[in-house]
Amino acid sequence: SPVPDYLADVLDAVRSIDDGAPADYIEVLAKADTSRLAVALATVDGEVYTAGDSDVAFSIQSISKPFAYAAAIEDVGLDAVLARIGVEPSGDAFNELSLEDGTHRPMNPMINAGALATHALVAGPDASGPQRVERLRALMSAMAGRELGYDEAVYEAELRDAHRNRGLAHMLRAGGIIHAEPETIVDGYVRQCAVNVTVRDLALMAATLANAGVQPLTGRQVIDRAGVRQVLSVMTTCGMYDAAGDWVSNVGIPAKSGVAGGIIGALPGQLGLAVFSPKLDAHGNSARGVAVCERLSRDMGLHMMDVS
Ligand code: GLU
Repeated sequence: SPVPDYLADVLDAVRSIDDGAPADYIEVLAKADTSRLAVALATVDGEVYTAGDSDVAFSIQSISKPFAYAAAIEDVGLDAVLARIGVEPSGDAFNELSLEDGTHRPMNPMINAGALATHALVAGPDASGPQRVERLRALMSAMAGRELGYDEAVYEAELRDAHRNRGLAHMLRAGGIIHAEPETIVDGYVRQCAVNVTVRDLALMAATLANAGVQPLTGRQVIDRAGVRQVLSVMTTCGMYDAAGDWVSNVGIPAKSGVAGGIIGALPGQLGLAVFSPKLDAHGNSARGVAVCERLSRDMGLHMMDVS
């Protein structure tokens, strides 16, 4: 297949981009090898293509948020999720409180406040902290098609410094959005963000979303079809921090990025893609990752608004 050579060419074309810096608020991420660069594509028929450092694992970080949202929708139902978390882009940074006036709902599940509230709904109202954490690890594993583990160093470093997320969780508790102990929610959320993945794993997870919840290699329906539509919608409007508008017009694929330098895209009915490179642009998205996705979208005609 010509695809792996094409992907390697795309990586070579963006390798000279040296803008940005790795996330510095988590000590372990600040020390990341910034030369890393990887891409993977997975079609809904189960073809997987990779190039670059595709076996290098990194922490999933905020890319876990759409998967947690899918789990919460399945576990408590969409209405219960919408009662606590909105679907409007906030335009603020990912770690702003951004609560709606009146309802006290976090604006959407892709900002930290909304992700903490989402985490609290996973595995249902009576779940324990460990049950929520394991539900998410198991779901993300089923989507990747292999058992995923954790980057313990990232988990520990982030938990030590999670003051801002603790503050958000306490505000959510005060507003009646969560009922569990804020510390348990923050601990579970930080674990969720510390799941270790490669671009190959992420491309398959994205392809599972693109394939209406059916994992392309195992053929298993790992997440409810109705929830997938909701997840892809929110990724489209809120997935790329405060660059969501630029992203939709330039790349045009439902997406989510994370502070470790990963980005996923899921084009419904077609494919999942994932890129990784640690240096982040001013919006917090992988600088080379965005460039790779812009090229793939243009070269392969992936923009969802293109009329063929
Ligand atoms: N664990 C990170 C945090 O909560 C995730 C941030 C991100 O990837 O955007 O700060």
